[in-house]
Amino acid sequence: MEKLRYHKKLSLLHLKQIINLRVVCSYLMRFILFFLIFIANTDLVLSKEYASEIFYKIRTETISEAKSIGSYSKGCLSGAEYLPNHSLHYEALKPSRNRFWGHPNLINYIKNISKEVFEIHGNGLILGDLSMPRGGPMPYGHKSHQTGLDVDIYFEKKPDLTMERYELETFKTRSVLSPNQREINENIWSDYHYNLLKIAASDEMVTRVFVNPLIKKKMCIRAGEIDDTDWLKKIRPWAGHYKHFHVRLRCPTDSELCINQAEVNNSSGCGSELDYWMQKDKLFESNSTKIRKWMLLSDLPKSCKKIAME
Ligand SMILES: [Zn+2]
Repeated sequence: MEKLRYHKKLSLLHLKQIINLRVVCSYLMRFILFFLIFIANTDLVLSKEYASEIFYKIRTETISEAKSIGSYSKGCLSGAEYLPNHSLHYEALKPSRNRFWGHPNLINYIKNISKEVFEIHGNGLILGDLSMPRGGPMPYGHKSHQTGLDVDIYFEKKPDLTMERYELETFKTRSVLSPNQREINENIWSDYHYNLLKIAASDEMVTRVFVNPLIKKKMCIRAGEIDDTDWLKKIRPWAGHYKHFHVRLRCPTDSELCINQAEVNNSSGCGSELDYWMQKDKLFESNSTKIRKWMLLSDLPKSCKKIAME
């Protein structure tokens, strides 16, 4: 009898324990479920946010190996290096935009060519935008410049003195076109500009240099006069680009996820291709080309999402 009572007591205790365990398990399950829904929601919300708004808010680079990821107009950058605003050889405008980051190849390229221009011509360069700290699309200003391999360089020479911070923010750059915008302004243009573009294009890492079609035409004429056309294929006509030219480097060899543009074809580009670009409506950016193309984070390569969240 005693034994039976004892067994009853024991099974009651077991039952209680089992019930307690079930309660704990159910709370645990609910917590895990809640957590998973939270993660999935955050992920979904982020994926549906505009990539430019996410990348624009990030003020620092990732501490990881330098890699350019994706294409020039749909990509990002890890392990970026920053370019100091001042040097004897250049000044970089508008530091407040925080677009002075690039792949180390680009930073080295800028330091090298600005030094070369300084040594040959005695003046430094004025630089525009590179990329944001983790690359990615920008909310205004450029469609490319997303992988840390693009830089804008102004045609204007750097003033002799180091520029103050407010001067870097407000410096007005000049167009090399005439006031009617149909030809080159011969009062401004000189052999310096021809040589500047040649120095900029001569680095093996450079795949393209974009200039206004009127500038390409000027380059074609001059190169023809001095029989120097074999490098001209890298100088590409593009709308706008009359105050600055845009240099694009090819993908670094160790950036496996970087997507190169097709190589430029072997002609100087001074023939029928240039005729196409010389049409009036191709010379300048139209309002439709200026409209920013909103890209979602999910439109970028998968690794870019990781880089944005790091
Ligand atoms: Zn550019």
